[in-house]
Amino acid sequence: MVGSDEVTTMTMAEFAKLSRERADSYFRYHIDAKETVDRQALPNRFIVKVGKIGLAKLIASEVFHYWGKWDVVFSRPCTYGVFSGPVGGFSPRPEMCVGCLRCTVQHPDFVKVKHNPARVALGDTYLNSNIISTIDEEARKGTVPVRGQGYRGRFGGPGWDEMFTDMSEIVRPSRDGIHGRELISTAVDIGSKPMSLKFDDEGKLVSEGPNMISIQVPFVFDVPPSRILTPRLATIWKEAAEQIDTLVMIPADMVSSNNLASRSVVPIISAGNAASAESFKSGTRMIELEEWHSEAFNAACSANPDLIVGVRLPFLPGWQQQFEEMTRAGVSVIHFIADNHGKGDGGRFIMEMLLEAHEMLIAAGIRDKITLLNSGGVVAADHLPKAIICGLDAVGLDQPLLVAIQARLSGDLSSRDNYRAKLPRKFKDSWAIQRIVNLSCSWRDQMLEILGAMGIREVRRLRGEVGRAMWCSRLEAEAFAEIEGFTGGGE
Ligand code: SF4
Repeated sequence: MVGSDEVTTMTMAEFAKLSRERADSYFRYHIDAKETVDRQALPNRFIVKVGKIGLAKLIASEVFHYWGKWDVVFSRPCTYGVFSGPVGGFSPRPEMCVGCLRCTVQHPDFVKVKHNPARVALGDTYLNSNIISTIDEEARKGTVPVRGQGYRGRFGGPGWDEMFTDMSEIVRPSRDGIHGRELISTAVDIGSKPMSLKFDDEGKLVSEGPNMISIQVPFVFDVPPSRILTPRLATIWKEAAEQIDTLVMIPADMVSSNNLASRSVVPIISAGNAASAESFKSGTRMIELEEWHSEAFNAACSANPDLIVGVRLPFLPGWQQQFEEMTRAGVSVIHFIADNHGKGDGGRFIMEMLLEAHEMLIAAGIRDKITLLNSGGVVAADHLPKAIICGLDAVGLDQPLLVAIQARLSGDLSSRDNYRAKLPRKFKDSWAIQRIVNLSCSWRDQMLEILGAMGIREVRRLRGEVGRAMWCSRLEAEAFAEIEGFTGGGE
């Protein structure tokens, strides 16, 4: 019996050891977020004004009424510490104010709290001050922002707010994926998968296999405008992309002149220089042509057959013809470019155009052969899943990265090229890289939240999953169309 126990114990010990080794060797993708302090802090959200005479009178009357009860005399109306500096309310600390308005309710005669116009003026109507503040917080902490105040925005609106996502409790078996006990994958494939496989009589694969790159997050970094891009910024973008295992698009001449070629870097080549595709080594896996040009595409493919060759396609009127030409010519990665407000093709919003492109590929029976990317119009974490539901494989981020490193944007922010960015005066590259890594971590975690809430175990399955989306205007039309005077809800 003893002998048998010994054998059992040994076997269990061995088994446990083996299991431990197997568990330790398993790599689960993870982004290392670290709190990264501000270098160019945003203006405070609120201005807190305290009338000195009113405050002095209050203190005098409290001293008189509550003599000896000093805890009452020195109690502050603000639990956030705005009046807890060395001289209390005589020198408030507005940077700590959250706008709860308790002080103004308690002492309306001498305390005023107002929105700070300098904060409100940040950005523009699309990339507005609320979105900038949120990106700033995400890039600082790398976590999912939680306010604890419920949703305070409006339900329904223009742009992405037109779409609601279905996060029914009934379909949520995978909260465990968010807390790491099981896996929800955010990896996506860039390139081409065959729609079917062919085998010969002996079972050998005779058709082409997939030709694609897998990246761990459903977004890539896109190049800032040439007036903002510097070799230093390009290097920061590249290092951040390498850390989180995604791709970064950078003009080919900057890649060559600064030795930036790497597995994560996608050089953007002009049509005239297509043959230079051959020169990119150091693990380069993909290049992008700046614009569609069939001869240039063929030249780039034959110059370096190992590379995936993508093509950028602006959403200009008539993009559908070029899109069809490109799909017929065998382009495997099509990178749409909208303006920074997500508009193109005579003012249409990308949500509509992406759905159209996705449906064109389905109708042609080639959806899996082509990867769709888009840059422009995705500036908040919730835009990311919505863009994927509309048919994108991955999203190109540009302006949010500049906001993450606390650049102050000015000029026409809707245009791809005509805005300016003032970077913090002094910062280290490592600081900027970590801010971008933090932003990526926060956006990925928010993607995990939405996938978990939908019960979807990988982001690939969210692509084109319009059954999980509802459109505000359609719901309104359904609910109110028969009510006299209803004018909305039209598509
Ligand atoms: S509004 Fe709220 S947070 Fe701001 S100072 Fe007044 S009590 Fe404090």
